Amino acid sequence: MLTYKVQLYPNKQQQTTLVEQLDICRKLYNRLLEECKKAREKGEKLTQIKTQSFIVWLKNTSMPELKGVHSKVLQMVNYTLWTNIKSLAQLKKNGHKIGHLRFKGKGWYKTINYNQSGFKIDENKNKLTFSKIGTINCRGFNNRIRTNKVKGIILKRTQTGRWFANIQIENTPIALPKTNKSVGIDVGIKAYVVDSDGREIENPKNIERQLKKLKNKHKSLSRKKQGSKNWLKAKYQLAKLYTKAVDQRKDFLHKVSNFYVDNYDIICVENLNIKGLTQKGNKKHKRSRTLHRNILDASWGIFFNYLSYKAVNADKELVKVPPRGTTQECSRCGEIVPKTLNDRTHSCPYCDLEIDRDYNASINILKRGKGYASLLVENRPLITITASAFVSGQVFSMNQETPTFRKE
Ligand SMILES: [Zn+2]
Repeated sequence: MLTYKVQLYPNKQQQTTLVEQLDICRKLYNRLLEECKKAREKGEKLTQIKTQSFIVWLKNTSMPELKGVHSKVLQMVNYTLWTNIKSLAQLKKNGHKIGHLRFKGKGWYKTINYNQSGFKIDENKNKLTFSKIGTINCRGFNNRIRTNKVKGIILKRTQTGRWFANIQIENTPIALPKTNKSVGIDVGIKAYVVDSDGREIENPKNIERQLKKLKNKHKSLSRKKQGSKNWLKAKYQLAKLYTKAVDQRKDFLHKVSNFYVDNYDIICVENLNIKGLTQKGNKKHKRSRTLHRNILDASWGIFFNYLSYKAVNADKELVKVPPRGTTQECSRCGEIVPKTLNDRTHSCPYCDLEIDRDYNASINILKRGKGYASLLVENRPLITITASAFVSGQVFSMNQETPTFRKE
């Protein structure tokens, strides 16, 4: 199962309905939980089927408001409750010390779960229709959603009050046409990606900007009195900014990973221990760079993750190679050319190769991934591609020059 996230743009009335429905779901959850607790006190045992039929009874007696919510959604509230009960029991079985399930306070029930029925996807327009809610405009549709069977849709409200739909589809791989091309990719700090075809994809600048803003907002939040009106406001702004930064980064990573999966059959990367990466850098600057590095580390992990599942779906291959010495080794003659973190160029005293340091590493990654003993590498400058060119869709196919090396 694959999940795609699209943003919803409900109108005022729909927003009210959505919030109301969330609260009805929350109340139902609490009511069912209460029933389970009562039964246990009496020494009786309830089952998922019993609480399910209890919902029907509630609809016609003390909770007529349940009629305003799609029946499958109510069923999923029951399902959620029992999933929680079962996982708690499992924890207990494994010897964990656990408490009881808690009632959910206002605002603590966050999803409306449409499973298998009660929704319709408009194939031509970006619209989703939900039973008992209406037709909602949305953004972020793709062909996968339009052409595959949708199993269910989960509506979710974020902390900042935005609504998203997680669309679950059956995972049917769609093989992409073969290109007979392979590539090595080196991820870094200076450029986000340098590949063995000589492309250098810059780090998205907006992320740097966001980072600065985030830092400032953090500072201003810490100066405010916890729980005060201004504190809440700053907290909301911080959450909003953070979500925006995360969204922008994901968008960038989706586009870069799509580019490589579309254009190459075999993609080679270093098998990085992402956690260990923070120690790889310049220790002197470590403290000042921690936030920056943490974010980069996380994004490399996400990037490799995207590459991995997209490659599987497209019938392409992601090869992870041992990272040891990819920077030091000369990609043409194989000799070790030691360099410090500040040496940006690989200049080999043995064979006169002079290329960008990360470019050299990416060719070594390709060599290892493909098992080549040697490659004929020529001196050449990198082609720099800005992150915004990627995000705006200017770069989507291989109109770049062909690689200047060939297998010997
Ligand atoms: Zn050399």
